[in-house]
Amino acid sequence: MSQKEKLLTLSTQEFVEYLKNNNINRFYFVYDKKNKKVVSSHKLLNPIADFINKDKRDFNFHEGIFFQISKKYDTLQSAFIHRTNRGQAAGGVRYWSYNSVEDFIRDGLRLSKGMTHKNALAGLWWGGGKGVMAHNPIYDKINSEIRSSIYKEYGEFITSLNGCYVTAEDVGTNVIDMVNIFSRTRFTTCIPFNLGGSGNPSIPTARGVVAGMKAALKYLSGETLKGKTIAVQGTGNVGSPLIKYLFEEKVKKIIACDIFESNIEKLKAELSDKNLEVNLVEKNDMSILSAECDILSPCATGAILNPDTIPKIKAKIICGAANNQLEYPVRDDIDLYKRGIIYVPDFLTNRMGIVNCANEQYGYVNEDPFIERHLQQTWKHSVYQTTMQVLKESKKSGNPTGKVAVNLADRLSKENHPLFGHRGQQIIDSLVANNWHEHNS
Ligand code: NAD
Repeated sequence: MSQKEKLLTLSTQEFVEYLKNNNINRFYFVYDKKNKKVVSSHKLLNPIADFINKDKRDFNFHEGIFFQISKKYDTLQSAFIHRTNRGQAAGGVRYWSYNSVEDFIRDGLRLSKGMTHKNALAGLWWGGGKGVMAHNPIYDKINSEIRSSIYKEYGEFITSLNGCYVTAEDVGTNVIDMVNIFSRTRFTTCIPFNLGGSGNPSIPTARGVVAGMKAALKYLSGETLKGKTIAVQGTGNVGSPLIKYLFEEKVKKIIACDIFESNIEKLKAELSDKNLEVNLVEKNDMSILSAECDILSPCATGAILNPDTIPKIKAKIICGAANNQLEYPVRDDIDLYKRGIIYVPDFLTNRMGIVNCANEQYGYVNEDPFIERHLQQTWKHSVYQTTMQVLKESKKSGNPTGKVAVNLADRLSKENHPLFGHRGQQIIDSLVANNWHEHNS
């Protein structure tokens, strides 16, 4: 096995041991624009830089990827900075288990690129980034003392990056973890209400999905939600308020499902006077996706749109909150397009999570115009207008909606911040020039 394959196939904990044995505590990979390639802070890690350079699937000229091993509990911590033309790289930190170093790196590359697209499409003056932390299986994932230490060290790590990455909550991270991060860095959003944060974003996220549905219906038939039948997979934080908003729009019927009985019972009790059919299902039961309905709204987990499910879909529109609904973005996007199904890309319609917390530092106004404009129909970057633009361009160009949305997001993400220009890149350059990787005593 070559050195490259060896490093990439190591488990994240074996990799941590390897780094410690070589006295590496912090390291980075940055894109060297002059030489047009990714370079590493350490020669020893060049095989990983080579792997990133050759990768066509997830690498997309990411500006910088920074890592550290936490001093306590040997946790691999990272910040993936994709593109910062529009502003600091913003996106949550994921705390997850990975099978290999390659899986860890691929997830960070993919997720940070996704944040660039989501933020740019929403018209936010933020770049795209993502934090990734690998759970060290030796230590208890839910022990509060261990978590507090890991997240505080993560906060210090973010501080050391001088603001080119601003973190937030993501899968595996909770609001207490955010408080611990916030105790060590100002470069975070999604802090709790009592510390000046914006609170739970699920209600605005549900409203964003409704806005996407309205645009898709208007585009398809000039109609409204009134009298329509909607199928909703998942009745959690977003699915439940979504169902309530849809009844306010006078839909005829909602068919929904969840894997937790308590969610279902609560919803049934709250909406007993509505035409709501809500079923308890097994985790792998995807029958809701083939329900007779006008709109299908995935609000549970990702990768549910794939060659198994797509041929059975009866809805003409798919519009939901779940992240990464397409199992393989290119393949499944084309498949839906060929079948004449309007797919409203998830990163367009579920933007309100990040929109809600992105600008916490600017304070709050009742019915905040900077939030509300995303949900109204007039602003050019609103969910409604962006959905319309994507659907029209898709028809004109003959390209599927996911591709059109990514192209539009890519264009927008290359616009420089009106005041600060491409400052994130300048910060990365200065970290490298100052040997960032050698400072962590
Ligand atoms: P949640 O965990 O509160 O709700 C998801 C619900 O889906 C749960 O009730 C769960 O039991 C159910 N579920 C899981 N697997 C299922 C299955 N196979 N069939 C039916 N139900 C199933 O999460 P949420 O906050 O409501 O988010 C839903 C989705 O939207 C997630 O993919 C999330 O990443 C995404 N999202 C959420 C927000 C937000 O503001 N909360 C923002 C952007 C994206």
